[in-house]
Amino acid sequence: GTTGTDIEIGESVRVCVRSRPLNEKEISSGDTSCVTVINPQTLQLNLKSGTKNFRFHQVMDENYTQGQMFSDSGVHILLDSVLDGYSGCVFAYGQTGSGKTYTMAGVEENLGKQDYVSNETDGIIPRSISYMWQNMTRRKEQYYVKAAFMEIYNEQLRDLLNPASGVLHLRWNIKSGFYVENMLVVDCTNIDDLIMVLHEGIRNRKTSSHELNKDSSRSHSLLLIHTISEEKNEDGHSFKKYGKISFVDLAGSERLKESKSQGAMIKETGNINKSLFMLGKVISALGDKKKVKSHIPYRDSKLTKLLMDSLGGTSKALMIANISPASAYVEETMSTLNYATRAM
Ligand code: ADP
Ligand code: MG
Repeated sequence: GTTGTDIEIGESVRVCVRSRPLNEKEISSGDTSCVTVINPQTLQLNLKSGTKNFRFHQVMDENYTQGQMFSDSGVHILLDSVLDGYSGCVFAYGQTGSGKTYTMAGVEENLGKQDYVSNETDGIIPRSISYMWQNMTRRKEQYYVKAAFMEIYNEQLRDLLNPASGVLHLRWNIKSGFYVENMLVVDCTNIDDLIMVLHEGIRNRKTSSHELNKDSSRSHSLLLIHTISEEKNEDGHSFKKYGKISFVDLAGSERLKESKSQGAMIKETGNINKSLFMLGKVISALGDKKKVKSHIPYRDSKLTKLLMDSLGGTSKALMIANISPASAYVEETMSTLNYATRAM
């Protein structure tokens, strides 16, 4: 709710909320918007019972272009730190149809396949790729880039760059922590290679959801970009810096019902979406200064295991909570705003 105090920037998770415009169907059915942006940090939800204000690091209304979204998201802070050898992750959260994929990838048909040129509709991933590439070129050290793209559906991991490999296993060892066995990791020598990875992953996500008869709104997709750079210090010794950024297009949040008791929710999401539920637990625990790292439940789902080294500690996270402004979805929007509030 509103406190009137300023929000401290630089906490573990930066939270932005983005509303998409009402679509034609909603307009023609006479639906109206139930959200009002009061100022860049405050969003008002208009409920039957009155209004409720929410504060976030940044609120983006339906007129926000992809370019403005990229700039105001603050993602460049994460990208800079990735190039310095840290980890980060960017999440899109929200109900199905609220604009997660649009915000992350953009309009797929417009993504250039070769000789990458940016498009107005490009989302945060292609814009981040461009930004990183430009900055790697500017810096004095040499960078190596690798990428992987996977999907979690019903707590099963699949490789979106090599769907033929079937269900993959998540393993753990002292050296690497959690890692995915037999995952294809692609060496990228230019920006087109990375855009190709994005394309291929999106395409395979669609194909596999048709072939395996999956409800694609229940899957999480994760694009991982690793940057490795080598730097020499004064005495001539060289050391490597490993940066990593994960872009996560989360499953639709419509099944996480808040009214349920925790036990009942775990039981239901155990079969439906444990990862989404546990991510909420992890990021709200990160914001709770009283909780120490050992109490953060990373090990309870595939998604949080995979992101364990990218959440908390020196890592930076950005969550974009996407909402549909239509009054018909006011309950769902309320639940998204509550989830987003807990992440701060
Ligand atoms: P999700 O991935 O959350 O299910 P999508 O990203 O597929 O939702 O968005 C649903 C539809 O709304 C798509 O047709 C998309 O192009 C459109 N859309 C989403 N956000 C915006 C926006 N900010 N401006 C214009 N169209 C949008
Ligand atoms: Mg989507």
